[in-house]
Amino acid sequence: MGTVTGFMEYSRKENPFRRVKERLSDYEDLHAAQPEGERICQASRCMNCGVPFCQSGFGCPLHNLIPEWNDLLCRGQEREALERLLETAPFPEFTGRVCPALCEKACNLAEEGSVTNRDNELYLIEKGFRKGWITSRIPPVRTGKRVAVAGSGPSGLAAADLLNRLGHHVTVFERADRPGGLMMYGIPNMKLPKDTVERRIALMEQEGIEFRMNTEADPSVTDAFDAAVLCGGARKPRPLNVPHDDAEGVRFAVDFLSETTRTLLAEGSCSLAEGKHVIVVGGGDTGNDCVGTVLRQGCVSVTELEMMPCPPAERTPGNPWPEWPRILRTDYGQAEAAEVQGNDPRIYETTVKRILTGADNRITGAETVHLRRTPEGKMEPVEGTEQTLPCELLLIAAGFVGCDEGTSEHYALQADRRGRIMPEDGSHYLGENLFSAGDMRTGQSLVVRALADGRAAAQEIHRFLTNQR
Ligand SMILES: Cc1cc2nc3c(=O)[nH]c(=O)nc-3n(C[C@H](O)[C@H](O)[C@H](O)COP(=O)(O)OP(=O)(O)OC[C@H]3O[C@@H](n4cnc5c(N)ncnc54)[C@H](O)[C@@H]3O)c2cc1C
Ligand code: SF4
Repeated sequence: MGTVTGFMEYSRKENPFRRVKERLSDYEDLHAAQPEGERICQASRCMNCGVPFCQSGFGCPLHNLIPEWNDLLCRGQEREALERLLETAPFPEFTGRVCPALCEKACNLAEEGSVTNRDNELYLIEKGFRKGWITSRIPPVRTGKRVAVAGSGPSGLAAADLLNRLGHHVTVFERADRPGGLMMYGIPNMKLPKDTVERRIALMEQEGIEFRMNTEADPSVTDAFDAAVLCGGARKPRPLNVPHDDAEGVRFAVDFLSETTRTLLAEGSCSLAEGKHVIVVGGGDTGNDCVGTVLRQGCVSVTELEMMPCPPAERTPGNPWPEWPRILRTDYGQAEAAEVQGNDPRIYETTVKRILTGADNRITGAETVHLRRTPEGKMEPVEGTEQTLPCELLLIAAGFVGCDEGTSEHYALQADRRGRIMPEDGSHYLGENLFSAGDMRTGQSLVVRALADGRAAAQEIHRFLTNQR
């Protein structure tokens, strides 16, 4: 390691957020620029542990060689550090922005302030792009085998990238008009600017990958290929199932976030929530993205309902390090709402009982009810706790129940009871020349897990194509 006592000399410093007032006036990156030397200093905090939990099963799903590139970074060998990072991380510009950094929660320094691996990673890749170190890498030899990738989210892109590097001809089919999956239409611009996604796609095209947009993959499209991998995501939303949930103004979160991005890309501004009282059902990451988005659109108020109790402030005995800490977290949208409205927008142990509508079937409000946990662990409504909230826009961010039926029907595949196209043996191989990867195989997860799964599928496909399976 570069500096033996780095972690004692320097305290943890993340990339700072821009001020709430400033960032609410646009959809630009949430974070401000860092002084050039800060990341080198932060990398010196890494202890190059004998047992680096950051890259273990509890930590980075890509098993990034974190201590090695932190060491190189802290010695000022930035280009070498980036090359080490790129050994395992296909797109650090995505994970460096949106990853919850499982590695940092598993870091041996977690109690005192873990190493800022995510910000260090982002620094390295953006420096690489600025300096021209990132150039297209065209495989020297082609195998002559053709692979179809259905879906261009992180799993599809990671599979396409590795298969292409291994010399196969790759064509990505995407039903949407732009590539990127939920990184394009889902995760808001302030977390992941869309030009970052476009920059990577342009590079992949230069490297020989073909992208066909507005194209639904089905056997008539993919049968002509030597292998096909289904990376369609797990985007079927959990419905609310309350009276009048089909009213005008009741929308699924991803539909709303996608329309916001589409409008922003076309027109530069978006006012879908302007002048409205908004309720977001679901206190998770998607709910938080909705809160941040409606605030930028000028909503009158935003309330987030979460059916589960408020998590504890600190780890409980059943949740020790290096597991992911199941504790209360206040994400950027919730922090923004707290500053604008003077209160945390989240109301716990509460859900919507019914939706109130006007004569034109437009939502006018929502009746909420308090929930309590039964001895069997279920959440049940408490009679007499009903309240009415005004609401002209209600966003359902209550999770996902698996992949949509389209792709599974095309390929006559049966999803398991969690809505996943997961082969019984836990592999990616579905039979004949077909494979699955990403959220479609594992259920709704994280960008970094989708990347790791896409790469694992690519390795399996490579073995299949080279008769090593
Ligand atoms: C609002 C929101 C915010 C999130 N924020 C984060 C975050 O901050 N950090 C994080 O790590 N994770 C986040 N996630 C989760 C993360 O985005 C997903 O886990 C990840 O995108 C899954 O990647 P994927 O490639 O498996 O699927 P997706 O990203 O869902 O991509 C699937 C793609 O396949 C296409 N497709 C489907 N069927 C077909 C077909 N038959 N033919 C052609 N194309 C098809 C779809 O149009 C889509 O573009 C978020 C999720 C949501 C909903
Ligand atoms: S666990 Fe933390 S300190 Fe140890 S090698 Fe990993 S990042 Fe560095």
